[in-house]
Amino acid sequence: MPGSDQQGMEYGMFTHPVQGEQRSLYQELVQVNRKLELKVQELNHAQQRLMEYRKVFECTGDLIYVFDRDYRYLMANEAYRECRKSRFPDLIGRTLPEVIGADTFARVKPQLDLCFAGNELSYEDSHHYVDKGKRDLLVTFSPVFEGARVERVACLIKDVSERKLLEEQLRQSQKMEAIGTLAGGIAHDFNNILTVIAGYASLIQINGEESEAAAMAVEILFSVERAAEMTRSLLAFSRKQEVHLEAVDLNLLVAELHKSLARLISEEVELVVRVSGGELCCVADRGQLEQVLINLAVNARDAMPGGGTLEISTGTAELADEDIPPGRYALITVSDNGTGMEKEVQERIFEPFFTTKEVGKGTGLGLSSSYGIIKKHNGAIRMHSELGSGTSFRIYLPLSGGRPSAERAESEGRPGAGSGTVLLVEDEDTVRDMTRLLLERHGYSVLTARNGHEALELYRHNQGRVQVMLSDVIMPRMNGRELCEQLRQLAPGLPVIFMSGYPADVMSEKGLYGGGAYLQKPVKPEELLGALRCALSA
Ligand code: ADP
Ligand code: MG
Repeated sequence: MPGSDQQGMEYGMFTHPVQGEQRSLYQELVQVNRKLELKVQELNHAQQRLMEYRKVFECTGDLIYVFDRDYRYLMANEAYRECRKSRFPDLIGRTLPEVIGADTFARVKPQLDLCFAGNELSYEDSHHYVDKGKRDLLVTFSPVFEGARVERVACLIKDVSERKLLEEQLRQSQKMEAIGTLAGGIAHDFNNILTVIAGYASLIQINGEESEAAAMAVEILFSVERAAEMTRSLLAFSRKQEVHLEAVDLNLLVAELHKSLARLISEEVELVVRVSGGELCCVADRGQLEQVLINLAVNARDAMPGGGTLEISTGTAELADEDIPPGRYALITVSDNGTGMEKEVQERIFEPFFTTKEVGKGTGLGLSSSYGIIKKHNGAIRMHSELGSGTSFRIYLPLSGGRPSAERAESEGRPGAGSGTVLLVEDEDTVRDMTRLLLERHGYSVLTARNGHEALELYRHNQGRVQVMLSDVIMPRMNGRELCEQLRQLAPGLPVIFMSGYPADVMSEKGLYGGGAYLQKPVKPEELLGALRCALSA
């Protein structure tokens, strides 16, 4: 050890042979020396440990400081110093009232006194920072004892804003779940009651013919219809309402809704609709989605009594949310530059029957039903509002196999234009002619057949050309399902779309619905075109 060499030289005179008293003195010195060495080692260790403590103290993001009985700062960590740096470059020796302000000090003084009396205490507080805005804080005062007396207090301030936000979200979603269950139960029972009321009212109406009672029964039925409308909204909110899923191009849906919305909103409100290029395919209940957009548009209109702009746009966006799986979603944004909402209102808008509108003007069911509908579609609805500047709602819906954007760009400019060859099988001449015309007008080549046999024949003669079959279901000799089976032997992957007057579930029970998409007659042209595009892009 270098230390002992040095000491050997220092005590060099004792390295000579020594005897008697000298010898025992020498041994004593050696022992003292050894003890000293141990002490130095201990000190080194202690210093290292102290450095470690200091590091922890300095590197945490929490704010820590210690003050004495005169409320004088004794120490403060980097985070706290940083926080106070601009006004107090040197804190040590200053007093709490000086630094945190007399008012704040007066507010916390009772807590400090409790702490100096020997109690540890925590409380939640908030602070408005110039750069970070309002933050929620958890403040803890811990007494530092010197024997039995508290000589110092250590204060630790933790920023808990993120945690508070998550807690708030969880509370909100639990509350919505609970209200949903309740609302669903009420709506269900209420529908039964309404059925009875409506049944007897109709009987009175029929029996009473031209009587006064019959006239009153008409009023009853009218009110029942309004009540039924409300229970439908409640069922939508509680997600008990049935959904009829189909492939929907959101861009088309929004574009088509344009006219009806323009009629809904007043003239002072400008309606701007911006749809992304190409298709935005989702599997959804068209009617319900339309209802959501109408609800949002009506609310936006009501929020702009003096006029303004209502903008509806579509696109896609990434969403990493706790509610739904993270990923890319179809996005519809509905925004207005109206009144906006206060925080208290924002927190409650999705609750059923919550309205700020006058009696008779609002039911408070628009947003709650919209919320339920979007949830049922495995999507999410988000709102951002600023008092005085406006509100925007964002609706996220799961995308379904749309075409890649490159292909999409080709069909741009002629919205709804399709391409490809369709084998159309329909025994009814008028329906076949109309459908053929419709498809050709929209860019498709069409091969028509009046029955299953003709269809198979046509397919064989046009090998490779046919990309999709569109077929009636109930046809003489060979029905749609049998045709589908035989055709699939020739072309296993060929997409098939059925059109029928029978509801899909009845057909599947009867085994007629042989694994293809299904459209119920009367088929709306845009539904048919949407289904074709989705089948061809799948
Ligand atoms: P209602 O429209 O019948 O009041 P909703 O559920 O549709 O019920 O809306 C609930 C409440 O949310 C409204 O009363 C209103 O206070 C608020 N709100 C909704 N949309 C907006 C908006 N775009 N701007 C301002 N406030 C809105
Ligand atoms: Mg509304």
